[in-house]
Amino acid sequence: MSEALQENLKRLEGFLERFRGSTLEHFIDGKPERGDSGNTFTNTTPTDNGPINEVAAGNAHDIDTAAKSARAAFADWQAVPGAERRKLLHNIADAIVQRADEIALLESFDTGQPLRFMSQAANRGAENFRFFADRAPGARSGLALPAEAHLNYTIRQPIGAVGVITPWNTPFMLSTWKIAPALAAGCTVVHKPAEWSPLTAYVLAEICHEAGLPPGVLNSVQGFGESAGKALTEHPDISAIAFVGESHTGSLIMQQGAMTLKRVHFELGGKNPVIVFDDADLDRALDAVTFMIYSLNGERCTSSSRLLVQASIYDEFVARVAERTRRIKVGHPLDPATEVGPLIHPRHLDKVLNYIKIAEREGADIAIGGARADVHADGNYFLPTLLTGCERTMRIAQEEIFGPVLTAIPFQDEREAIDIANDVAYGLAGYAWTRDLGRAHRLGRALDAGMIWINSENNRHLPAPFGGMKASGMGRDGGDYSFDFYMETKNVCVAYDTHSVPSMGK
Ligand code: NAD
Repeated sequence: MSEALQENLKRLEGFLERFRGSTLEHFIDGKPERGDSGNTFTNTTPTDNGPINEVAAGNAHDIDTAAKSARAAFADWQAVPGAERRKLLHNIADAIVQRADEIALLESFDTGQPLRFMSQAANRGAENFRFFADRAPGARSGLALPAEAHLNYTIRQPIGAVGVITPWNTPFMLSTWKIAPALAAGCTVVHKPAEWSPLTAYVLAEICHEAGLPPGVLNSVQGFGESAGKALTEHPDISAIAFVGESHTGSLIMQQGAMTLKRVHFELGGKNPVIVFDDADLDRALDAVTFMIYSLNGERCTSSSRLLVQASIYDEFVARVAERTRRIKVGHPLDPATEVGPLIHPRHLDKVLNYIKIAEREGADIAIGGARADVHADGNYFLPTLLTGCERTMRIAQEEIFGPVLTAIPFQDEREAIDIANDVAYGLAGYAWTRDLGRAHRLGRALDAGMIWINSENNRHLPAPFGGMKASGMGRDGGDYSFDFYMETKNVCVAYDTHSVPSMGK
């Protein structure tokens, strides 16, 4: 064990101390709540699947209490002037930065994501709060749409109490990406974090209240999707659901929310292509290709899990990817040297291992990896994997594996690359590497994905829209797009008293 890892484990224990041997509670109406049933579940670390702590298992009653609290808090919160909301959200961002070290260590141990990436997660979460804080004063602004005899203008107002349901990959950052714009818009929130990564959701609720957020404005209910999550999507006091997770869960949420006519925003799965043409800057492409599949353990919605390489350079380029893949350091997530940590849960490890069996059955070659990594016998460690000899129709080329598994497929020309890229159910992100300017723009138009990156990994710009097409989601986050979801747009039409008003019965 390296000295740096020992040191990080020691610092982690300092932060974990208060959770060990106690039950992580919900956060409802401004205070920790044990919950209605008293039932708990055990939170484990993917490093060895040992227990970290117990967590309150929320039920429909807990959701009801939280939703009523959010509903009651809405009237006052939406009336808080934008400038004051701005100040409060900046205070939250400051507090996140102050506790960034704690958030990074807890998140890394809870999810298995390497500390080298998680150390930025808290700061990115703070940035999300700052970005939307600055937009809070203008969130209600609209358009002036004058007509001949009437002035139309639009205004926006917050939709009400909203539900936010998040997954376990980078849970802290993702939660802030939803919660910050909701609060900036003037909505109140009930957050249901993922059951496999509960720790930092509690820390976020605590930070928000210590920073001065009024009780009920942000509530957090821990628990399982099929109980707490379902109840949230069905609750009549909840006006909208912002969901990040699997496409199938998105379908369920749409059904569950149908009776209460929920507005839904879905950020779902992906099977994103990265297309490398023979005229590309291959050194930069190589860096991005390996980073965008193996970083964050491949448990990343925007991961470029399908590598499409022009046939003329396929052998050479794939050999270089293989060399990189082989050298990636798998290890304990708190070791600063670790590039790939353990997968979140034994069930998820089984799913990924099962795709290796499928790859073998389908006739693909396991060029690198394809097996558990020898780090800790009880942990969920898995080797970065490169599959070659793949056909576009294989399940490994169609389905989201959500692990460090890259499927390589050759193509002849631009037309075939686009055909293969679009031939999946998903449409979240598309990456292309080429020096041909016209082709770059043609790909931007032709690829069926909500986000296209040309000659780049997934560089994020907060005002830009984030979201997917097809089975990858509906709606966009980022900048003003987020406010469109969390707010109602109203049109006010005022006459200049110059037009003739139609009359009856005169
Ligand atoms: P998941 O769908 O299993 O769970 C996500 C959340 O939904 C959890 O909090 C879970 O408890 C809850 N849930 C489950 N069933 C529910 C139900 N019936 N009603 C209400 N809530 C329910 O997803 P996961 O395995 O936690 O996360 C991985 C998935 O998330 C991948 O598919 C990944 O691509 C996707 N993801 C997408 C984005 C994006 O921006 N598009 C970002 C991150 C992750």
